[in-house]
Amino acid sequence: VSRRTELALRAAAAKGPGTLVAFDPAIDKLSAEQRLIHRELPRAITAHELEVHYQPIVSAGGAAFVGVEALLRWTHVTHGSISPAAFIPVAEQMGLMDTLGAFVLRKALQDAKRWPDLYVAVNLSPLQVRDRGIIDVVRAALAESGVSPSRLMLEITEGVLIDNPDEMIRRIEDLHALGVRIALDDFGSGYSNLSYLQRFPLDKLKIDKGFVSALGQSGNGGVIIQAIVALGRALGLSITVEGVETEQQRVLLRLAGCDEMQGFLFARPASAKAIDRLIKQSKPSGASPAPPRACPAPTGCAPRRSRAGRRALHARRPDSRRRGRDRPCPRPDIAPPRCSC
Ligand code: C2E
Ligand code: MG
Ligand code: MG
Repeated sequence: VSRRTELALRAAAAKGPGTLVAFDPAIDKLSAEQRLIHRELPRAITAHELEVHYQPIVSAGGAAFVGVEALLRWTHVTHGSISPAAFIPVAEQMGLMDTLGAFVLRKALQDAKRWPDLYVAVNLSPLQVRDRGIIDVVRAALAESGVSPSRLMLEITEGVLIDNPDEMIRRIEDLHALGVRIALDDFGSGYSNLSYLQRFPLDKLKIDKGFVSALGQSGNGGVIIQAIVALGRALGLSITVEGVETEQQRVLLRLAGCDEMQGFLFARPASAKAIDRLIKQSKPSGASPAPPRACPAPTGCAPRRSRAGRRALHARRPDSRRRGRDRPCPRPDIAPPRCSC
């Protein structure tokens, strides 16, 4: 009975505060992999079997590195690599996500010091975002590392916004007050509730790789991406697209107006040391990265407003938040890498 009670309690915790979950035998039917994860994860954390790897994020214009996303990796001594998509939900159920999440945040910010020109994106699990304590965790990790908060991008998923929207708006605002940016990850994989984009103070939209793999296969994949990009831009969000695997996808996505891209075409997730090497190879020796250049298009681009500027605009015109912020670059074909627009 106590085991069943605990399983129901964990399922309730995973669904968020104020949720009632009665024990259901289905909760108990864990797959063999989940059982292994249940058994082994606490030991693996103590034994430092989990590592943080990084996947580069590139500018859509020139393919220059602009950021990295921190991704957890677990290589089990006998069972080999275990996917974070499998072990993170179990870590949440077992109440281990606080420890694991704080570990990723601290490690990513320490490693960020190796790449001063890049931002670092860190995924937050729904349980982390729901916990008010996340503000102190982020503040402490930033203070410990000395990294500028503007270089930290926190990635959250749509599901977390649904349960308690008002509280989540406050949470995002508190995180913004620390100076960090917030991205909505995997957009298009879940509810894709468009009103959230308007309602929540987000900085970036990450289009899910499901849309990218459909590019070139179905007639409307590109149209959907174009529509998401147009919507995101109208709301003042920057757009990253994930899962770019082919040159054809890259060209189509650039034409669709995405700002940044991430995918196996550019680089797979790799250790911090491997990222050091990649960055070194991508720069001519001794050269420092070029500063953002003005857009050479005849009409130029509207300057990208800072978040403070957007807030001021919002405060003046509450009903037209973010409207008319960025005009898309009129000539992305001739815009240089790291164009300031
Ligand atoms: P995500 O945050 O959307 O991360 C992107 C995932 O797409 C990564 O999978 C990455 O390896 C994969 N990916 C990147 N480029 C390509 C591509 O071109 N093609 C394909 N097919 N896949 C690509 P990964 O590392 O297995 O992570 C899966 C998910 O696990 C992540 O999705 C994220 O939701 C979660 N996750 C990973 N690390 C963490 C973490 O530290 N904390 C939390 N809360 N979640 C994490
Ligand atoms: Mg992510
Ligand atoms: Mg994603």
